[in-house]
Amino acid sequence: MSNESSIAHVHGASGAFVVPAHSPYDRQLLREHIELIAGSGTTLTIDGTCWQLTRGAAADARCTACARRVGRLSCSRNNETKATCIDCVTGKRSRRSQRNGEHV
Ligand SMILES: [Zn+2]
Repeated sequence: MSNESSIAHVHGASGAFVVPAHSPYDRQLLREHIELIAGSGTTLTIDGTCWQLTRGAAADARCTACARRVGRLSCSRNNETKATCIDCVTGKRSRRSQRNGEHV
């Protein structure tokens, strides 16, 4: 039982906000919004994890989760240097369905 998992918290230079992240559509909107507002010092807390967002020149860094290039917006967890792409951070792929092992 985790009610944290369906809410995303974003803290950025322009303020902080909390948005629902229940459905894939919610998460798509969140992702698009983050791509617009993210700058240095922006953090995103989603699925119980706090991510530091870094915007920069397109880097060759690859996402640790999906192995694609993270591009211009990379996310890292708690001072780790490993980069994760915004798609993986916002849960484009459902981890729950893997866990259930059943078709949802
Ligand atoms: Zn990824």
